[in-house]
Order: sequence, then C-alpha cells, then structure tokens
Amino acid sequence: VDLASLIRDVPDFPEQGVIFKDITPVLAHPETFAELIMALARPHLRTGITKVVGIEARGFTLAAPVAKELGAGFIPLRKPGKLPAATITQTYSLEYGTDALEMHVDAVEAGEKILIVDDVIATGGTAAAAVNLLQRVGAEVAGVSVFIELGFLNGRSALDGVPFYALIRYD
Ligand code: AMP
Repeated sequence: VDLASLIRDVPDFPEQGVIFKDITPVLAHPETFAELIMALARPHLRTGITKVVGIEARGFTLAAPVAKELGAGFIPLRKPGKLPAATITQTYSLEYGTDALEMHVDAVEAGEKILIVDDVIATGGTAAAAVNLLQRVGAEVAGVSVFIELGFLNGRSALDGVPFYALIRYD
C-alpha cells in the first residue's frame, strides 16, 4: 500500500481553514507502518545517532520505533508540566501567543548526536524550538526528519541549516 494513500485529509480540524494530515490510518496498517519507520530511519543507519527525540504527541509514535531501528535511545519533548523530573524549557511563538516544549535536563549529554522526528512540519516553529533546545544543552543536531512536509509553509527554512528530511511533500 502506498504511504501517501493512507494519509487522511481532515478539513477544518482543529480550526477552520486547516487541512489536518491524519496519520492514524498509516499507523494502523502493519506493513505500511513498518515501511514508514524504515524509510525515516534509513538515511541515519550507522551514522552514530545516539538519541532520537520525539515531539509530543504524534511524534512519539514515529520517533520511538525509529530510535529502536537505529539502536539509539528515545527522548520525549513535551508540553509544559508533563515531565516529572527537572526540565529545560524552550518557548516559541505561534501566530497568536507563545507555546513551549520541555525536556528532562539529564536526557542528553553534551556532544551527543541527535535526530529529531515529528509527523508533520508546517511553519517549522515546533521543529525549530526542538533544535534550539537540543543545541542549548550542547547536543549536535544531525537532522530533523518528518513524515509530511507542508512545503507551501516553508517550515524547513526555519531550521537554519540543520539537515532536513521529509518523506512526502505537499506544495
Ligand atoms: P509547526 O510548528 O507550524 O511546524 O507545526 C507543527 C506541529 O503541528 C507538528 O507537531 C504537527 O503535528 C502539527 N501540525 C501542524 N499542521 C498540521 C496539519 N496540517 N496536519 C497535522 N498536523 C499538523
């Protein structure tokens, strides 16, 4: 089954004018899910990635299996107040207001080679915040990998030179 054919477009979710890219049909389909994880992991096999970072919440469903495929650890980035131990926070701006991502301060050591994984890149604000957070703790961000790129929003330009990988791009 073609990966793209299992992405469900949901119009006007979570708000009017947004076409939500729903990946749950891909996750539910055994062979296609496996193919997606392999395709995300493939460029990073044997490149020395030590940790794969997933962004709450859909990013977790992809980042954790990619980590296992690479023989790396998995680290969750979460919305404020969800992680139990001491955290470091990165705020970022949205169209209206700000949001933040948190990571456990002891999750990564300086010099580790990190891959960031998420389901969708739109404006790139979330991925850029993840990059900044990891760079602040001295990690080397080797790449940002997403399943779906909304190319018309040019989110990749927000990543200032960090290698970017997308499996499917909509223009
Ligand atoms: P952005 O910070 O604008 O790049 O938004 C990226 C975050 O919002 C990702 O974590 C996505 O899961 C989610 N997101 C943004 N736009 C969409 C969309 N059209 N469909 C599905 N998820 C989206």
